Parts: sequence; C-alpha cells; structure tokens
Amino acid sequence: MKKVHVFNAGPCLLAPEVIDASIDALKDFKGTGVSVLSISHRTKEWEETMNECRALWKELFHIPEGYEVVFLGGGASMQFLYVAMNFLEKKAAYLDTGVWAHKALKEAKGIGDAYAIACSADKNYTYIPTGFEIPTDIDYLHVTTNNTIYGTELKEDLDSPVPLIADMSSDILSRPVDVSKYACIYAGAQKNAGPAGVAVAIIRKDALGKVSRYLPTMLDYRTHIDKESMFNTPPVFSIFVMNETLKWVKAQGGVEAIHKRNLRKAATLYAEIDRNPLFVGTAEVEDRSIMNVCFVMAPGHEDLQDEFMAFAKSKGMVGIKGHRSVGGFRASLYNACTQEDVDALVDCMQEFEKMHR
Ligand SMILES: *Cc1c(COP(=O)(O)O)cnc(C)c1O
Repeated sequence: MKKVHVFNAGPCLLAPEVIDASIDALKDFKGTGVSVLSISHRTKEWEETMNECRALWKELFHIPEGYEVVFLGGGASMQFLYVAMNFLEKKAAYLDTGVWAHKALKEAKGIGDAYAIACSADKNYTYIPTGFEIPTDIDYLHVTTNNTIYGTELKEDLDSPVPLIADMSSDILSRPVDVSKYACIYAGAQKNAGPAGVAVAIIRKDALGKVSRYLPTMLDYRTHIDKESMFNTPPVFSIFVMNETLKWVKAQGGVEAIHKRNLRKAATLYAEIDRNPLFVGTAEVEDRSIMNVCFVMAPGHEDLQDEFMAFAKSKGMVGIKGHRSVGGFRASLYNACTQEDVDALVDCMQEFEKMHR
C-alpha cells in the first residue's frame, strides 16, 4: 500500500490495530461465523460489545457516577437538536466560536429562546472570546471546545453557575476533561473516537426531565438511556469500530498518555510554522488547537500556495487543504496521527523553504 501521511479533518485517521480488528470482524464477529454487518443486535455477543464500549468510555474519560453514556445516529449535527429539545425551557446561551457553534445555536433558536453570549466572528473566529459573564437565569451554556475549521480550542473546563453543555466532536479523548463540570458532553465519533455513523452523548441524569415540551420518543435522551442505546437498531458496525478505538486508546496508556503525545505533535508543527518564513499560523497563539493546526502562506508568499499543496501531495501528505472559509492549510493531528507523520510534514515544509530561498 502507498505510504501516506493522513491529516484529514474528518473522518479521522484510525490506528492500524483498529482497522485490522474491523477487517476480522467483518468476516467473523467473535467466532460466531457471522459478519459484524449481519450480527443481530439482540445477541449476547453484541450486548457484550455495547457494554464494553460504555464501560471503556466511563473508564478512559473518567466519567463520574450519575452520568449515562448513549450512542446515537445522526452525527453531532443531530445532537444540536437533541440538546435544545432536552434542555431548553426558557433561555439558553451559546458561545459562538465558529461554524459548528453557530449551527448549534441556530438549531436551538428553532426550538426556543437562544442567543450568543459572545462571538468571535469579527476576526473570522481566530480566537476564543473571554471576559463574558455567564448569567444565572439561563437553562444552560453551550460551548464548542474545539473549533475544527479555525483551529482554536477552549482548553479549560469552564466554571459555570448554570449547566454546561459541550460539543467536543473534534477534541474528545485528546486530553483529560473534568466531566463533573458538564451536564452534557457530545461528539460525533469520526473526529477522534471512531468512524462516522455514531455520536456519543454523556449526560448527567439529573439534568434531564426539566423541560415541559413534548419530546418525540427518538429525540428524548431518556429513551436511549432506559434502553441502553438499543431502543431501535443501533449503528452496529460504527459502535464496533468505536469500541476498538477505545481499546486502542487504553493500550496507548489512556487519555493522559495520548494527551502528552498530542501536545508534542502540536508543538512540533507550530514551532515549524513560527520558524519557517514561508508560513504563518491563523489562530491566536494562546487559543491554538492541538487537534487542528491551521496555517497559510506568509504575506508576500501567497503565490506559492498551489505549489506547496502539490509538493506536499508528492511527498505523501493527504488532507492538508484548509477549509474553504479559512483557506490555506489545515493539518488535523487526531489521536491516531503519529509523531512520525508530523515530522514528515515538517520535513516537507523545510524542503519547500530551501527550494525557495
Ligand atoms: C464535524 C463537527 C460537527 C458535525 O459533525 P457531524 O457528525 O458531521 O454532524 C459538529 N461539531 C464539531 C465541532 C465538528 O467538528
């Protein structure tokens, strides 16, 4: 197979061990002689996988008592709606830090009274707003911890006087989180926790049941908690691969060990961006994401953009084109991306610099 370095923003790179286990299960799930694609979700073998996946989330993400973990279809975008339906009674505030945060807010506005408590659109979302005061008369504050498109990250778990809800789609499992500070955390799997097709929601049970609206069965978190994510057919294969991803995270030494590696990978690439006169980072330094690293050609070198893209491609770099709303480049350094991948990208940037001295 061609040797490449994958920096895709999502779906993410998965570890080779996860891919191998998935291939085996496609042929024969746990020695049943049945493919994981055909296994009944009502079998004992499948229930074991579901239970293992839930237990691994609780263990690796240090989820305290009183929280439930559910697996749902519809991606993170469907969670925008779930959150508003299940938690918004009178009023909710959203920290508007990018396109995803904005879409979450838009969805809530369709359900009730929701507003942006602070917004960084004035500088194309290149920073995380600070200094806003969280009112006490709102149902919840919604934050997006990592802004995938702009490469900014809210690295602290905010102290909030009201329930805190977070979209952690693109940095979940990349760093330790104090789950006890949140009423609800959700993530589409495909940015760090597995393949597309499933989202995880981690919900403090006592935060539910406070809205008076009618909740359709499928949009009520309690349905999925009560039925252990098996009210209807779950996305079996996606959950299988998520479980393998969690097993891999555990084998790496857990979230804390992976965080250390992630810090080193990000530091390596940001150091090169800051050193190399041909490139410049787009996010404010203090808000730089360790998952999505965004950069552009430095002023005066803009005309080299297409050439660098082609050069990087020839060196095996995959998925470094920036999102169309930012331009330039974005390297996503999700958990399965290795230091070797990052070093290869840095080498490529240095070689390109020499060509243009
Ligand atoms: C990708 C992404 C989403 C959307 O995820 P889908 O599963 O495609 O709906 C939402 N929020 C963030 C932060 C993302 O990175």
